[in-house]
Amino acid sequence: MAKVVVGVDLGGTNVRAGVFTTDGSQMGEYVQNPSRAQEGFKITLEQILLTLNQAMERAGVVSAQVGAIGMAVPGHIDAVHGVVRWAPNFGERKGEVFEVWRDVPLADAIRARLQIPVYMGNDANLAALGEYYYGAGKGTAKGLVMFTLGTGIGGGVVLTHHQIQGNARWQGGILLVGMNGGAGELGHTIINWHGRRCGCGAMGCVEAFAQRDAIVELAREKMRRNPNSLLNTLTEGDPAKITPALVAQASEQGDPTAIEIWDEIGTYVGIAVATHINTFNPEVVAIGGQIAKAGEPLFKAIHRTVRDYAIPTLLETCRLGLAERLDDAGILGAVALAQQYAGEG
Ligand SMILES: [Zn+2]
Repeated sequence: MAKVVVGVDLGGTNVRAGVFTTDGSQMGEYVQNPSRAQEGFKITLEQILLTLNQAMERAGVVSAQVGAIGMAVPGHIDAVHGVVRWAPNFGERKGEVFEVWRDVPLADAIRARLQIPVYMGNDANLAALGEYYYGAGKGTAKGLVMFTLGTGIGGGVVLTHHQIQGNARWQGGILLVGMNGGAGELGHTIINWHGRRCGCGAMGCVEAFAQRDAIVELAREKMRRNPNSLLNTLTEGDPAKITPALVAQASEQGDPTAIEIWDEIGTYVGIAVATHINTFNPEVVAIGGQIAKAGEPLFKAIHRTVRDYAIPTLLETCRLGLAERLDDAGILGAVALAQQYAGEG
Protein backbone atom coordinates (compact mmCIF):
# COMPACT_ATOMS: atom_id res chain seq x y z
CA MET A 1 0.00 0.00 0.00
CA ALA A 2 1.15 3.50 -0.82
CA LYS A 3 2.46 5.58 2.04
CA VAL A 4 0.29 8.23 3.64
CA VAL A 5 1.20 11.39 5.54
CA VAL A 6 -0.19 13.02 8.66
CA GLY A 7 -0.56 16.76 9.11
CA VAL A 8 -0.62 18.24 12.61
CA ASP A 9 -1.59 21.75 13.64
CA LEU A 10 -0.31 22.42 17.14
CA GLY A 11 -2.01 25.43 18.68
CA GLY A 12 -2.05 27.09 22.06
CA THR A 13 -5.54 25.69 22.72
CA ASN A 14 -5.90 22.56 20.59
CA VAL A 15 -3.84 20.08 18.64
CA ARG A 16 -5.44 18.78 15.46
CA ALA A 17 -4.31 16.04 13.07
CA GLY A 18 -5.49 14.57 9.77
CA VAL A 19 -4.29 11.73 7.54
CA PHE A 20 -3.85 12.30 3.81
CA THR A 21 -2.72 10.19 0.88
CA THR A 22 0.47 11.39 -0.82
CA ASP A 23 -1.65 12.75 -3.67
CA GLY A 24 -3.65 14.95 -1.30
CA SER A 25 -6.93 13.16 -0.49
CA GLN A 26 -8.00 13.12 3.12
CA MET A 27 -8.55 9.76 4.85
CA GLY A 28 -10.99 9.87 7.76
CA GLU A 29 -11.67 13.12 9.53
CA TYR A 30 -9.62 15.57 11.56
CA VAL A 31 -9.08 14.61 15.19
CA GLN A 32 -8.70 17.29 17.83
CA ASN A 33 -7.69 17.35 21.50
CA PRO A 34 -6.67 20.09 23.95
CA SER A 35 -2.94 20.79 23.59
CA ARG A 36 -2.58 21.65 27.30
CA ALA A 37 0.08 24.12 26.21
CA GLN A 38 0.59 25.64 29.65
CA GLU A 39 1.24 22.36 31.47
CA GLY A 40 4.77 21.60 30.32
CA PHE A 41 6.41 19.78 27.46
CA LYS A 42 5.79 16.19 28.63
CA ILE A 43 2.03 16.66 28.88
CA THR A 44 1.77 18.48 25.55
CA LEU A 45 3.86 15.75 23.90
CA GLU A 46 1.43 13.10 25.14
CA GLN A 47 -1.51 15.14 23.79
CA ILE A 48 0.18 15.31 20.37
CA LEU A 49 0.86 11.54 20.38
CA LEU A 50 -2.70 10.81 21.46
CA THR A 51 -4.04 12.95 18.60
CA LEU A 52 -1.70 11.33 16.06
CA ASN A 53 -2.72 7.84 17.16
CA GLN A 54 -6.41 8.68 17.06
CA ALA A 55 -6.07 10.22 13.59
CA MET A 56 -4.32 7.09 12.28
CA GLU A 57 -6.91 4.86 13.90
CA ARG A 58 -9.75 6.85 12.37
CA ALA A 59 -8.13 6.67 8.93
CA GLY A 60 -7.54 2.94 9.33
CA VAL A 61 -3.76 3.10 8.96
CA VAL A 62 -0.88 1.93 11.15
CA SER A 63 2.30 3.91 11.80
CA ALA A 64 4.35 1.73 9.41
CA GLN A 65 2.22 3.08 6.54
CA VAL A 66 2.94 6.72 7.41
CA GLY A 67 5.79 8.14 5.33
CA ALA A 68 6.08 11.43 7.17
CA ILE A 69 4.44 13.69 9.72
CA GLY A 70 4.24 17.41 8.97
CA MET A 71 3.67 19.74 11.85
CA ALA A 72 2.67 23.41 12.10
CA VAL A 73 3.85 25.08 15.31
CA PRO A 74 3.36 28.73 16.34
CA GLY A 75 6.84 30.02 17.06
CA HIS A 76 10.35 30.18 15.72
CA ILE A 77 11.10 26.74 14.29
CA ASP A 78 14.49 25.33 13.35
CA ALA A 79 13.19 22.95 10.69
CA VAL A 80 16.60 21.47 9.89
CA HIS A 81 17.10 20.19 13.42
CA GLY A 82 13.42 19.73 14.27
CA VAL A 83 13.72 22.09 17.21
CA VAL A 84 11.23 24.64 18.51
CA ARG A 85 13.60 27.54 19.22
CA TRP A 86 10.93 29.65 20.91
CA ALA A 87 7.18 29.28 21.33
CA PRO A 88 5.64 31.89 23.62
CA ASN A 89 2.26 30.11 23.92
CA PHE A 90 3.81 26.91 25.28
CA GLY A 91 5.54 26.31 28.58
CA GLU A 92 5.11 25.67 32.24
CA ARG A 93 4.54 27.80 35.29
CA LYS A 94 7.42 27.55 37.76
CA GLY A 95 6.59 29.60 40.84
CA GLU A 96 5.91 33.14 39.68
CA VAL A 97 7.45 32.64 36.27
CA PHE A 98 5.96 31.13 33.14
CA GLU A 99 8.88 29.42 31.39
CA VAL A 100 8.18 29.26 27.67
CA TRP A 101 9.48 26.58 25.31
CA ARG A 102 13.07 27.31 24.35
CA ASP A 103 15.02 24.88 22.16
CA VAL A 104 12.60 21.98 22.54
CA PRO A 105 13.57 18.96 20.35
CA LEU A 106 9.97 18.20 19.45
CA ALA A 107 10.51 16.36 16.14
CA ASP A 108 12.91 13.85 17.69
CA ALA A 109 10.62 13.26 20.67
CA ILE A 110 7.76 12.27 18.34
CA ARG A 111 10.00 10.28 16.01
CA ALA A 112 11.38 8.30 18.98
CA ARG A 113 7.89 7.18 19.91
CA LEU A 114 6.34 6.50 16.51
CA GLN A 115 9.37 5.76 14.29
CA ILE A 116 8.04 8.21 11.71
CA PRO A 117 10.07 11.18 10.43
CA VAL A 118 8.66 14.54 11.56
CA TYR A 119 9.02 17.81 9.64
CA MET A 120 8.04 21.01 11.41
CA GLY A 121 7.39 24.54 10.25
CA ASN A 122 6.05 27.81 11.59
CA ASP A 123 2.25 27.75 11.54
CA ALA A 124 1.76 30.99 9.57
CA ASN A 125 4.37 29.93 7.02
CA LEU A 126 2.74 26.53 6.63
CA ALA A 127 -0.69 28.15 6.32
CA ALA A 128 0.70 29.87 3.23
CA LEU A 129 1.89 26.51 1.90
CA GLY A 130 -1.54 24.98 2.64
CA GLU A 131 -3.27 27.87 0.87
CA TYR A 132 -0.87 27.41 -2.03
CA TYR A 133 -1.64 23.71 -2.55
CA TYR A 134 -5.23 23.41 -1.31
CA GLY A 135 -6.65 26.93 -1.63
CA ALA A 136 -6.22 30.02 -3.76
CA GLY A 137 -2.85 28.87 -5.14
CA LYS A 138 -4.38 25.67 -6.65
CA GLY A 139 -0.89 24.12 -6.47
CA THR A 140 0.05 25.88 -9.69
CA ALA A 141 0.20 29.64 -8.97
CA LYS A 142 3.50 31.27 -9.78
CA GLY A 143 4.12 32.27 -6.20
CA LEU A 144 1.85 33.18 -3.31
CA VAL A 145 2.02 35.63 -0.43
CA MET A 146 -0.35 35.13 2.46
CA PHE A 147 -1.31 37.30 5.40
CA THR A 148 -3.19 35.79 8.34
CA LEU A 149 -5.16 38.43 10.24
CA GLY A 150 -6.06 37.54 13.82
CA THR A 151 -4.84 38.05 17.39
CA GLY A 152 -1.55 38.87 15.70
CA ILE A 153 -0.70 39.10 12.03
CA GLY A 154 1.24 36.24 10.53
CA GLY A 155 2.32 35.49 7.03
CA GLY A 156 4.20 33.33 4.63
CA VAL A 157 5.75 33.40 1.21
CA VAL A 158 5.64 30.49 -1.25
CA LEU A 159 8.00 30.72 -4.18
CA THR A 160 8.18 28.61 -7.32
CA HIS A 161 10.93 28.38 -9.90
CA HIS A 162 9.12 31.24 -11.66
CA GLN A 163 10.25 33.65 -8.92
CA ILE A 164 13.90 32.82 -9.07
CA GLN A 165 16.59 33.09 -11.63
CA GLY A 166 19.02 30.26 -12.19
CA ASN A 167 18.96 26.53 -12.56
CA ALA A 168 16.84 25.42 -9.64
CA ARG A 169 15.48 21.98 -10.42
CA TRP A 170 12.63 21.95 -7.98
CA GLN A 171 9.06 22.17 -9.12
CA GLY A 172 6.01 23.34 -7.22
CA GLY A 173 5.77 25.62 -4.21
CA ILE A 174 8.59 25.94 -1.74
CA LEU A 175 8.41 27.94 1.47
CA LEU A 176 10.71 30.83 2.14
CA VAL A 177 11.98 30.30 5.68
CA GLY A 178 15.21 32.26 5.79
CA MET A 179 18.62 31.18 6.99
CA ASN A 180 17.59 30.22 10.51
CA GLY A 181 13.89 29.74 10.02
CA GLY A 182 12.75 33.22 10.95
CA ALA A 183 11.59 34.59 7.58
CA GLY A 184 8.07 35.47 6.56
CA GLU A 185 7.25 37.75 9.49
CA LEU A 186 4.90 39.76 7.33
CA GLY A 187 3.02 41.10 10.35
CA HIS A 188 6.12 43.11 11.18
CA THR A 189 6.19 44.90 7.86
CA ILE A 190 6.80 48.48 8.91
CA ILE A 191 4.15 50.72 7.37
CA ASN A 192 4.98 53.88 9.36
CA TRP A 193 8.43 54.15 10.92
CA HIS A 194 7.29 56.48 13.69
CA GLY A 195 3.97 54.75 14.18
CA ARG A 196 2.51 52.74 17.05
CA ARG A 197 4.71 50.56 19.24
CA CYS A 198 4.42 46.90 18.26
CA GLY A 199 4.63 43.81 20.48
CA CYS A 200 7.97 43.04 18.81
CA GLY A 201 9.43 46.25 20.23
CA ALA A 202 9.68 48.15 16.96
CA MET A 203 7.34 50.91 15.88
CA GLY A 204 4.83 51.08 13.07
CA CYS A 205 4.47 47.39 12.15
CA VAL A 206 1.23 46.53 10.35
CA GLU A 207 0.44 44.18 13.25
CA ALA A 208 0.43 47.12 15.67
CA PHE A 209 -2.18 48.88 13.52
CA ALA A 210 -4.38 46.02 12.36
CA GLN A 211 -4.26 43.17 14.86
CA ARG A 212 -7.42 42.18 16.68
CA ASP A 213 -6.88 44.43 19.72
CA ALA A 214 -6.07 47.46 17.54
CA ILE A 215 -9.37 46.94 15.70
CA VAL A 216 -11.23 46.73 19.01
CA GLU A 217 -9.52 49.89 20.28
CA LEU A 218 -10.33 51.78 17.07
CA ALA A 219 -13.94 50.60 17.21
CA ARG A 220 -14.33 51.77 20.81
CA GLU A 221 -13.04 55.22 19.90
CA LYS A 222 -15.28 55.47 16.82
CA MET A 223 -18.27 54.35 18.83
CA ARG A 224 -17.67 57.09 21.41
CA ARG A 225 -17.50 59.72 18.68
CA ASN A 226 -20.52 58.38 16.78
CA PRO A 227 -23.31 57.80 19.28
CA ASN A 228 -25.73 56.98 16.46
CA SER A 229 -23.61 54.10 15.20
CA LEU A 230 -25.16 50.66 15.16
CA LEU A 231 -22.14 49.62 17.25
CA ASN A 232 -23.75 51.37 20.20
CA THR A 233 -26.99 49.47 19.66
CA LEU A 234 -25.31 46.08 19.18
CA THR A 235 -23.18 46.52 22.30
CA GLU A 236 -25.98 48.15 24.31
CA GLY A 237 -23.58 51.07 24.70
CA ASP A 238 -20.94 48.94 26.45
CA PRO A 239 -17.54 49.33 24.74
CA ALA A 240 -16.30 46.18 26.53
CA LYS A 241 -18.59 44.15 24.26
CA ILE A 242 -16.84 45.20 21.04
CA THR A 243 -15.32 42.39 18.97
CA PRO A 244 -14.16 42.34 15.33
CA ALA A 245 -17.05 39.96 14.55
CA LEU A 246 -19.50 42.52 15.91
CA VAL A 247 -17.93 45.30 13.83
CA ALA A 248 -18.33 42.99 10.81
CA GLN A 249 -21.97 42.43 11.71
CA ALA A 250 -22.55 46.20 11.87
CA SER A 251 -20.82 46.84 8.54
CA GLU A 252 -22.87 44.08 6.87
CA GLN A 253 -25.94 45.98 8.02
CA GLY A 254 -24.56 49.12 6.38
CA ASP A 255 -23.43 51.01 9.46
CA PRO A 256 -21.19 53.85 8.16
CA THR A 257 -19.02 53.89 11.30
CA ALA A 258 -18.28 50.18 11.05
CA ILE A 259 -17.50 50.54 7.35
CA GLU A 260 -15.08 53.37 8.20
CA ILE A 261 -13.30 51.05 10.65
CA TRP A 262 -12.71 48.38 7.99
CA ASP A 263 -11.68 51.08 5.57
CA GLU A 264 -8.96 52.23 7.95
CA ILE A 265 -7.82 48.68 8.80
CA GLY A 266 -7.83 47.69 5.12
CA THR A 267 -5.68 50.71 4.30
CA TYR A 268 -3.03 49.57 6.78
CA VAL A 269 -3.11 46.00 5.52
CA GLY A 270 -3.06 47.22 1.91
CA ILE A 271 0.19 49.12 2.41
CA ALA A 272 1.86 45.95 3.72
CA VAL A 273 0.38 43.91 0.87
CA ALA A 274 1.66 46.40 -1.72
CA THR A 275 5.14 46.17 -0.23
CA HIS A 276 5.14 42.41 -0.68
CA ILE A 277 3.71 42.53 -4.17
CA ASN A 278 6.65 44.77 -5.04
CA THR A 279 9.11 42.43 -3.32
CA PHE A 280 7.87 39.04 -4.49
CA ASN A 281 5.78 39.68 -7.62
CA PRO A 282 3.43 36.80 -6.70
CA GLU A 283 0.55 35.52 -8.80
CA VAL A 284 -1.63 35.29 -5.69
CA VAL A 285 -2.00 37.28 -2.48
CA ALA A 286 -4.36 35.52 -0.07
CA ILE A 287 -5.72 37.24 3.02
CA GLY A 288 -6.77 34.70 5.66
CA GLY A 289 -7.46 34.54 9.38
CA GLN A 290 -10.70 35.16 11.24
CA ILE A 291 -10.54 38.96 10.76
CA ALA A 292 -10.59 38.50 6.99
CA LYS A 293 -14.18 37.31 7.36
CA ALA A 294 -15.11 41.01 7.63
CA GLY A 295 -15.34 40.74 3.86
CA GLU A 296 -16.24 43.44 1.35
CA PRO A 297 -15.51 46.75 3.17
CA LEU A 298 -12.13 45.43 4.32
CA PHE A 299 -11.20 44.11 0.87
CA LYS A 300 -12.41 47.24 -0.87
CA ALA A 301 -9.88 49.28 1.14
CA ILE A 302 -7.11 46.72 0.62
CA HIS A 303 -7.69 46.76 -3.16
CA ARG A 304 -7.78 50.56 -3.31
CA THR A 305 -4.59 50.92 -1.28
CA VAL A 306 -2.75 48.25 -3.24
CA ARG A 307 -3.73 50.03 -6.45
CA ASP A 308 -2.26 53.26 -5.06
CA TYR A 309 0.96 51.75 -3.63
CA ALA A 310 1.98 48.65 -5.61
CA ILE A 311 3.93 48.85 -8.85
CA PRO A 312 1.20 48.71 -11.54
CA THR A 313 2.96 46.22 -13.83
CA LEU A 314 3.32 43.79 -10.91
CA LEU A 315 -0.27 44.32 -9.80
CA GLU A 316 -1.55 43.61 -13.32
CA THR A 317 -0.79 39.90 -12.97
CA CYS A 318 -1.67 39.52 -9.29
CA ARG A 319 -4.86 37.97 -7.96
CA LEU A 320 -5.65 39.39 -4.52
CA GLY A 321 -8.48 38.15 -2.37
CA LEU A 322 -9.86 36.20 0.54
CA ALA A 323 -7.99 32.98 1.36
CA GLU A 324 -10.03 29.87 0.61
CA ARG A 325 -8.90 27.79 3.59
CA LEU A 326 -9.75 30.04 6.52
CA ASP A 327 -9.98 27.25 9.07
CA ASP A 328 -7.50 24.54 8.10
CA ALA A 329 -4.70 26.13 6.06
CA GLY A 330 -2.13 25.33 8.79
CA ILE A 331 -2.83 21.63 8.90
CA LEU A 332 -2.90 21.42 5.09
CA GLY A 333 0.48 23.14 4.93
CA ALA A 334 1.84 20.52 7.33
CA VAL A 335 0.41 17.85 5.01
CA ALA A 336 2.03 19.51 1.97
CA LEU A 337 5.38 19.67 3.74
CA ALA A 338 5.18 15.99 4.73
CA GLN A 339 4.21 15.08 1.16
CA GLN A 340 7.33 16.76 -0.22
CA TYR A 341 9.49 14.54 1.98
CA ALA A 342 7.40 11.36 1.67
CA GLY A 343 7.47 11.82 -2.11
CA GLU A 344 11.26 11.47 -2.03
CA GLY A 345 10.94 8.19 -0.22
ZN1 LIG B 1 6.35 44.32 15.04
